[in-house]
Amino acid sequence: MTDNVRVRFAPSPTGPLHIGGVRTALFNYLFAKKHNGTFVLRIEDTDQTRYVANAEKYIIDSLEWCNIPFDEGPGKNEKFGPYRQSERKELYKQYANQLIESGWAYYAFDTAEELDAHRKQHEAEGKTFIYNWHNREKLQSSLRLSKEEVTAKLEADEKYVVRFKTPQDEVLIMQDEIRGTIKIDTNTLDDKVLYKSDGMPTYHLANIVDDYLMEISHVIRGEEWLPSMPLHILLYKAFAWEAPKFAHLPLILKPVGKGKLGKRDGDKLGFAVFPLEYTNEQTRDVSRGYKEDGYFPDAFINMLAFLGWNPGTEQELFSLQELVENFDLTRVSKSGAKFSPEKTNWFNQQYMQQKSNSELTALFLLILKEKGIEKDNEYIEKVVSLIKERATFVADFWELSNFFFVNPSEYDAKASKKQWKEGTPILMEELITVISSIEDFTSENIEKIVKEWITSKEVGFGKVMQPLRLSLVGALKGPHLFDIIEMVGKENTIQRLQNAVNKL
Ligand code: GLU
Repeated sequence: MTDNVRVRFAPSPTGPLHIGGVRTALFNYLFAKKHNGTFVLRIEDTDQTRYVANAEKYIIDSLEWCNIPFDEGPGKNEKFGPYRQSERKELYKQYANQLIESGWAYYAFDTAEELDAHRKQHEAEGKTFIYNWHNREKLQSSLRLSKEEVTAKLEADEKYVVRFKTPQDEVLIMQDEIRGTIKIDTNTLDDKVLYKSDGMPTYHLANIVDDYLMEISHVIRGEEWLPSMPLHILLYKAFAWEAPKFAHLPLILKPVGKGKLGKRDGDKLGFAVFPLEYTNEQTRDVSRGYKEDGYFPDAFINMLAFLGWNPGTEQELFSLQELVENFDLTRVSKSGAKFSPEKTNWFNQQYMQQKSNSELTALFLLILKEKGIEKDNEYIEKVVSLIKERATFVADFWELSNFFFVNPSEYDAKASKKQWKEGTPILMEELITVISSIEDFTSENIEKIVKEWITSKEVGFGKVMQPLRLSLVGALKGPHLFDIIEMVGKENTIQRLQNAVNKL
């Protein structure tokens, strides 16, 4: 192993990437960048029964959208390639053989039916069947059969698997960068299958061989792989290879704080669990994605970084560069991280405020175009500057600003009833005259003149201001009223007042 930091994200292309997977990719990316290392993408597609054709593309597109692209992987800097395990298939057999020769693995010829019968029998006795030290010399294994019997079976093309011969009566002491020292009694482990006679390695063998050949220095992955760690450590020992460092990230929990956040929780609770929208090619079911739901990738990433990591300070907003600088495995927690859709929205709202008005204008333009509204960019940018602090998503802009573009077509019933009194029409007619005569039509000047007039009339401010807002906006909401008046202009303001007088 070299001193270089080389980490890998090794998803199995069995469907869309869950946010837990994106978080694993992100932590690998941050760790790699922090140490000027390399972030590798490896596609672990040895399980052909679960293979989904569009999943690899989805994974790569997701990393792109999140702005955490891989340095090395399928189709990119392929110096340790190929990076799809199905394309490395030929390579694994020699390693399985090597372990058999050195006594670290053995052939097992037990048929599925035989194993099933053992399982049932154990169950009937209230026990669990485990293939390991206590029975491997009684079963159809090359540990029991004679050399000749084994050769005969292999020559007859009998189906077999290669199992790892887990050492007996050992206490394995392992180090996890996040969890510290972990001890395990090897007698509790089963002899996992490493290789099958169909020519396919299992995840365990392929994963270790590839991590070794790709010179991976740190394995950073989800907690669900922690139970595999003893076997992986033992495999390195068996091959006499130096093991990489391991770090198992905490689970992402449901918003209630209990239970792993599953693919179905999003549907139930109304939020996305996938970065991008995903269409299941078989069922045509569409799962929503953060991108399509209007989240900014940098806000999404910032939120994900806090699922299991914290900087140890009060700071919550981190650019990707700042995350890289501050990220540290020692600040990743062991305990599960609760996912919060509200917090995710909060991040988006915060990032919204940091975005430039012109950037947001470009996005808002797409919505306005769909609605058939044409206005010059300068006007739209001004609108954006006035409303963005109230918005979480660009999709909120229209609801918050439609009155800048179109006259209200209806008026909030409750507000009208409360604010539009008997004397209101006369006051509004007078106000029309006042507004007509304003020459310098700027927010401050309009405000000054209208307020002076209200004072001179000796009516309460609310009696004028509320109906005026209702006339312009159609409801008692929106930004500073005189800003709206300046923006829509004198003629349109008068028209809106007139409309309200006629309609209310
Ligand atoms: N292929 C495994 C997965 O789908 C990789 C686990 C690991 O990183 O070792 O997550």
